[in-house]
Amino acid sequence: MPELFNPRLVLTPVDKPGPSFNLSELTRQLQQLNFLAELKTTEAQYQCYEIGEDFLHQISFLGCSPTLFSDQNDQDTFISIIEHDDIAFSHSSEIPPPRCPHCQKTDKNWKQYQQQWDDNKNSTVSCPSCGKTFSFTEMKWKKNGGYGRLLIQVHGVQENLAVPNPAFLDALKQITETEWEYFFADH
Ligand SMILES: [Zn+2]
Repeated sequence: MPELFNPRLVLTPVDKPGPSFNLSELTRQLQQLNFLAELKTTEAQYQCYEIGEDFLHQISFLGCSPTLFSDQNDQDTFISIIEHDDIAFSHSSEIPPPRCPHCQKTDKNWKQYQQQWDDNKNSTVSCPSCGKTFSFTEMKWKKNGGYGRLLIQVHGVQENLAVPNPAFLDALKQITETEWEYFFADH
């Protein structure tokens, strides 16, 4: 069974919640780019693919090359794709607090905001620094967390060390006609 919540690189459109995508067309094109190989399995609606032949030209691995893959439990590297109905949130465990989308001040109350958002997706909060309101899903995380409906996740890679190449982000943009961003998550 693939580990879906291990350390991973998450690619997602910048636009939230963003348009709906034709997933079979998207995966077909990603197979044509040799980013994806064959479908490995489908687990809880996550389509899990083997990495394609050109994967290592599309994702760069920083640091020492032998640390290409996560050293924890010999995890397999694979790619999962899912389109959620609503915006989903994920983050890595050692996060600095996210920032207010208006004044950019860090806000330690984010867990409370997340709770409110879990209970009611339309809830808004007021920034303790600038007083402006925003939704939890507008908070700025840098690369240690993020939001998205359509997620392409590269599993079994070391956090912060696997980065999509600009050319690959461009290719995603061409295919989907929307800008992409990325972040890291580990649970
Ligand atoms: Zn603020």
